[in-house]
Amino acid sequence: MVKLLIDKGIRDRLVLKAIGNVPRHLFIDSSFEDFAYQDKAFPIAAGQTISQPFTVAFQSEKLALSPGQKVLEVGTGSGYQSAVLCEMGMKVYSIERQKELFDNTRPLLQKLDYKLFMKFGDGYAGLPNHAPFDGIVVTAGAPEIPKALLSQLKVGGRLVIPVGAPVQRMKVLHRKSESDFEIQDFGDFRFVPMLHNKNV
Ligand code: SAH
Repeated sequence: MVKLLIDKGIRDRLVLKAIGNVPRHLFIDSSFEDFAYQDKAFPIAAGQTISQPFTVAFQSEKLALSPGQKVLEVGTGSGYQSAVLCEMGMKVYSIERQKELFDNTRPLLQKLDYKLFMKFGDGYAGLPNHAPFDGIVVTAGAPEIPKALLSQLKVGGRLVIPVGAPVQRMKVLHRKSESDFEIQDFGDFRFVPMLHNKNV
């Protein structure tokens, strides 16, 4: 799969190494296990999906982080993207709003010895108590860019977020100063929607 990702244009060695190290078959339903190392998204619990490896690699690369930096993920889901960020040596914080997924994924990541901070809550609010972050990655399709996430980004940091509906454009907002963000657009991607608070 790493070779496939290189063929699709992923260059960051840290990302490729991390993807090579994470046992993706443990993050998906056993009925899809035989396909775990194909570049496909699959259904997980609560009507959600585990992102396609290319998408995980692409978003991780666009964060442009170095080991030891702090990253916030919105949409823990299966925990696969969190595991990749942990393998990259990041200090990982992750938020999930579906209780069922949160309750399944937390013990799985613990069992695999990935150490990260996980919160059951609404990603629109970010994690003000742990901010600022060197990078923020949103793994659900956002109708608009949440202001709280922008304010929790360090100067020099990047927010990687798919924006729009029903198809999203992958946007990277690079914080140049307190008030300036440089925005880049990396084309169409498809995600499950980022939804507001359910029952938190
Ligand atoms: N990173 C995940 C992708 C899961 S799909 C993985 O690697 O498997 C996106 C996830 O975002 C879903 O689990 C969904 O429940 C979650 N989500 C949607 N809206 C959210 C919100 N407002 N706050 C936190 N998580 C949210």
